Amino acid sequence: MKSSRLFLALLAIGAIGAATAQAQEKVLNLYSARHYQTDEALYSNFTRQTGIKINRIEAKEDELLERIRNEGAASPADIFLTVDAARLAKADELGLFAPVKSKLLEERIPANLRSPDWFAFSTRARVIVINKAAVKADEVQNYEDLASPKLKGKVCSRSGSHPYNISLMSALIAHLGEAKAEEWARAVVANFARAPKGGDTDQIKSVAAGECGVAVSNTYYLARLLRSDKPEERSLMDRITIVWPNQKTFGTHINISGGGMLKTAPNKESAVKFLEYLASDDAQRYFADGNNEWPAVASVAVKNPALETMGKFKADSLPVATLAKNAVAAQRIYDRAGWK
Ligand code: FE
Repeated sequence: MKSSRLFLALLAIGAIGAATAQAQEKVLNLYSARHYQTDEALYSNFTRQTGIKINRIEAKEDELLERIRNEGAASPADIFLTVDAARLAKADELGLFAPVKSKLLEERIPANLRSPDWFAFSTRARVIVINKAAVKADEVQNYEDLASPKLKGKVCSRSGSHPYNISLMSALIAHLGEAKAEEWARAVVANFARAPKGGDTDQIKSVAAGECGVAVSNTYYLARLLRSDKPEERSLMDRITIVWPNQKTFGTHINISGGGMLKTAPNKESAVKFLEYLASDDAQRYFADGNNEWPAVASVAVKNPALETMGKFKADSLPVATLAKNAVAAQRIYDRAGWK
């Protein structure tokens, strides 16, 4: 009697367990380094379409990566969204991602913008910004020109350890070879107006102020200033020329926002659905426009006045997975060149 009651009790617990598991299937735990206004619509549309509720943990890229590592096998995270191929590569190297096989993703996301383990959902370009009064734009048409002795004391930069610069160097390694890329880095360091500091927006401001003649920046920082509701920020842009580098050679370096499914994801089905959703037309628009970027899916267009102002350009078609592969060599070159 006693044992059968215990058996019934265990059955009941089993049923609750199964019900919980079923309920869990309708949830997606998203670890995201993104936090833009349009993301609310991005996520609520997914829940409306699929019935899957999104639990979001938002933090800085490196903090999220650290958190996933610390949580280990018990991590509730299903998806990790971040920016920059170098960061995605780091997560990949740590073995955090699970390969995703999806016909839809393979069809929608161009081959150079994905790896077997992660996918790009938007792109940004790394451009040269020039102070109109201090430097002639036709003398700085390529990344290589930043090494020209004509720019002595005029180049400003953020840290060489920052993922954006690591990825740029990774591209230069792929195109020029390691030896030439290192020569370039040394010559750029010799042209520095000051020791590396601040972020991309700080470089833009310093160029506008004339403290620096030239710097590089991701496009969305320029778009933000162009779209700013502060007149003093918009007027910074009047003093600046934006150059799309290397239009006659390998094209302007692009980087990505993207993500992948984690190996320890408790909700793998929901995770794949979410990645596929991010490649849909509407999600692509929200995802890209939220940070003034371009959709990864080529057929999707965004109406973004700031990006239109900057115009069309030839993008480097180098696979982003190659950027990832060269990241370690890139950091070593910056270290040797003294690009702190
Ligand atoms: Fe950024």
